[in-house]
Amino acid sequence: MKIGCPTEIKPQEFRAGLTPNAAREAVAHGHEVTVQKGAGVGAGFADEDYTTAGARIADTAEEIFAQSDMIVKVKEPQAVERKMLREGQLLFTYLHLAPDPDQTNDLLASGCTAIAYETVTDERGGLPLLAPMSEVAGRLAPQVGAWTLQKANGGRGVLMGGVPGVGAAKVLVIGGGVVGTHAARIAAGMGADVTVLDRSLPRLRYLDDVFGGTFGTGYSSAGLLAEHLQQADMVIGAVLVPGAEAPKLVKRADFAMMKPGAALVDVAIDQGGCFETSRATTHADPVYEVDGIMHYCVANMPGAVARTSTIALGNATMPFMLALADKGWQRACAEDPHLLNGLNVHAGRLTYGAVGEALGLDF
Ligand code: NAD
Repeated sequence: MKIGCPTEIKPQEFRAGLTPNAAREAVAHGHEVTVQKGAGVGAGFADEDYTTAGARIADTAEEIFAQSDMIVKVKEPQAVERKMLREGQLLFTYLHLAPDPDQTNDLLASGCTAIAYETVTDERGGLPLLAPMSEVAGRLAPQVGAWTLQKANGGRGVLMGGVPGVGAAKVLVIGGGVVGTHAARIAAGMGADVTVLDRSLPRLRYLDDVFGGTFGTGYSSAGLLAEHLQQADMVIGAVLVPGAEAPKLVKRADFAMMKPGAALVDVAIDQGGCFETSRATTHADPVYEVDGIMHYCVANMPGAVARTSTIALGNATMPFMLALADKGWQRACAEDPHLLNGLNVHAGRLTYGAVGEALGLDF
């Protein structure tokens, strides 16, 4: 199969759809891989890294789209890219179609077959192509929160680990899923005093079994949340209610009982945010203040560590990408119901129910 990887063109996107290692594997499987010039630069991969892996470099996205049977990307195709998709072509990338009727209509009109990373599942009910980005965002959250806590950045001037004779920062993590668990581990590793609140007792049991002693756990009730908010130097928002906007768990009125200069890191901002005062920010201007409380609300946190994110995403997508290339999408999806769950669009039809429902389209 001819596999093509264009350079990402969405603003502030530095990741790449294929790593040199993924390209090497595909070439070893007998496929022809073409990567657009400079596609890996944002993630620290030079064109030579791809040519050494056996890939070819093309100058333009037009060449990639014209030649390839399968396009492998990171972000949803932008309008100019959608015009280049054609009937029978396979697109493998994040799509997030439900809130995006323009993209959905363009994909339907193109006649392509589109498999969305975010709806591929695994045997435990997880989302294996979203999980690596949650891991990255979770591990990044205490790092950016620690920076926000520094005095010069508007924060309280508290060091995560304290020093001998001075207590550690108190970090509250709301939501103990993938993001929350990774955030709590790193915050605890920095020496902070960490508590994770969740609404799922099985999840709290798991966290206590595995991490008891490293960080504390609590059932996420309004009362316990208020108790912890009064103490917290940093609050990391990591809740997810599948298919719904994030619940606004911390209200502006709560700031009156919080410590001035405390840092809020709202990782759930891509689902609307779990703090009432959250609004999406960018890496260029990530932090703002409301009533003396500092807010970090970057919607695309993994972009800050594009190299780690590209490799993490590449590790997760590689087996699916190889199955699609080796078998063709029909057989690959027929043999793997989890990959089939990723199928969102085929030959002008929506093939994923939730997207159809969200957009009021037939599926
Ligand atoms: P997840 O499903 O693994 O975990 C979410 C957890 O929230 C679950 O354990 C659930 O029980 C818990 N929860 C739900 N309601 C709660 C409540 N009221 N109080 C406490 N806990 C509650 O999801 P995840 O992968 O960890 O993702 C968390 C959020 O981070 C999502 O909104 C996701 O979209 C977002 N995210 C953002 C970025 C970014 O760059 N900003 C990157 C990755 C993920």
